[in-house]
Amino acid sequence: MLQQTQVKTVIPYFNKFIKEIKSLKRLSLTSERKVLKLWEGLGYYRRSRNLMATAKIIVNQNKSILPKTLVDIKKLPGIGDYTGNVLLALVYNQPRLGLDGNVKRVFSRIFNKHENKLDYEKIIEKNKKKLFFSKRNSVFVEAMMEFGALICKPKDPLCNTCPINRTCKFFNSGKNTKLTNKIKINKKSYNIFCYLNKNKQIGLTKKNDLGFLREYSLPIIKEKSKKNKFKNWNFLCNYKNSISNKKLDINLYYKFSNKIPKDLNWHSIYNNKEFIPTFTKKIFRQVENLY
Ligand code: SF4
Repeated sequence: MLQQTQVKTVIPYFNKFIKEIKSLKRLSLTSERKVLKLWEGLGYYRRSRNLMATAKIIVNQNKSILPKTLVDIKKLPGIGDYTGNVLLALVYNQPRLGLDGNVKRVFSRIFNKHENKLDYEKIIEKNKKKLFFSKRNSVFVEAMMEFGALICKPKDPLCNTCPINRTCKFFNSGKNTKLTNKIKINKKSYNIFCYLNKNKQIGLTKKNDLGFLREYSLPIIKEKSKKNKFKNWNFLCNYKNSISNKKLDINLYYKFSNKIPKDLNWHSIYNNKEFIPTFTKKIFRQVENLY
């Protein structure tokens, strides 16, 4: 849940999720529909599918035991280097670090070097004994992430009260004014098309390959629009939306039609039974006004 999503957003979803689904075994037996319903509003739905697939593999093929090596754990759906390392550290106390943005920033400041210029694997290998001396690495890996999020923050780090400021090259460089590690903002423009019919139905697809709208979404074209391409479409509105570090600029178009392309299906705009992403529901409310 925490991939691409802030902790404060995740907390209520996580609490609701574990209240309903209390164990890995239970997750492996829960219907996709129920899991998606619990995930509804959190976005990036591929994560929930990977979670379900992973639960099934671990329960059915691995006697409910999480693999113990990075090579094996990375074979599970949705688990890469970062998640694999963090899981092995948290679950098995292995001497590993998850290199997320927070941890990389801490290293970059301690060594006073740009994040892209550091060889993190080499640093970890070289400082293994200093980093993993406590045999409580599950706590340490968590603490490193929290330290980056709460103390060595992207902006205005709390250097004066930082417990490691004596060894921090950035702090001791004397440039300790306001730090601005630039967060890359990804600006994207999309055009979304609503096929509508007289029965108050809208054409939805499951085939968009965009990470933020994968399930039951509307046909999307990612481009700067060439106006003549949309000449049979009516402009409805423009949305500006932010999802993690993405700034989305979305133009919404509509047309009434009896036919829709093959990869779309008609859905009532009042459909509450199926799992529909929050953003798609917002569009339902917009097109309601056209009837
Ligand atoms: S002294 Fe400041 S920049 Fe250095 S690690 Fe601590 S909070 Fe980060």
